[in-house]
Amino acid sequence: MARPLIVATHNAHKTGEMRAILGDLFEEIEDLTSIPDLVPPEEDGDSFAANSAIKALAASRERPDALILADDSGLEVDALHGAPGIYSSRFSGEDATDASNREKLIADLDGIDEPRTARFRCVITVARGGEVLASFHGIVEGQIALEMTGEGGFGYDPLFIPDGFESSFGQLSEEVKNSMSHRGRALEQFREWWNGRP
Ligand code: IMP
Repeated sequence: MARPLIVATHNAHKTGEMRAILGDLFEEIEDLTSIPDLVPPEEDGDSFAANSAIKALAASRERPDALILADDSGLEVDALHGAPGIYSSRFSGEDATDASNREKLIADLDGIDEPRTARFRCVITVARGGEVLASFHGIVEGQIALEMTGEGGFGYDPLFIPDGFESSFGQLSEEVKNSMSHRGRALEQFREWWNGRP
């Protein structure tokens, strides 16, 4: 088993999913609570990849000894021309919460008939010593439901029904979500890369 991995997030749900998916590869998976002095960088990139790299490099400069893994992710809704996209966490404004973002999504899609196609996208960036080592991209396609279902997951999960299922990510178990999610798919590529290093 390798040394600790630090996930560059304050989102406990993301950390939980990373631990569930990568827990067998690392003795410990920490998050940004282990770097309290880190000033959160401005996520002013114009893509998931750019913002993922910004987060990974900021944490890596503060802890150059550690392996850092950053996730930038979000929801793209075709009827909204790809919104909320990179603005997923602040879709309903500066004080947005998961609940207010979901309400805005339901309101914005009001009257829009099916199919309400959408996808979650995730870019993972791995950094060490203040440099990017690799990045990985994962997508899961699905539909936006007319109403919320399920208590599980976070963010838009109660509104997202992945292709091939009739239940939302909020209803599916963590194990099932992780086996097909944007984050799960990006992390499986990370796993292959990590295991294949010399
Ligand atoms: P980030 O933390 O800046 O990458 O923003 C990610 C945002 O995208 C979250 O706040 C959620 O709104 C949304 N999101 C990303 N991944 C998921 C997921 O797995 N389920 C539900 N919402 C997600």
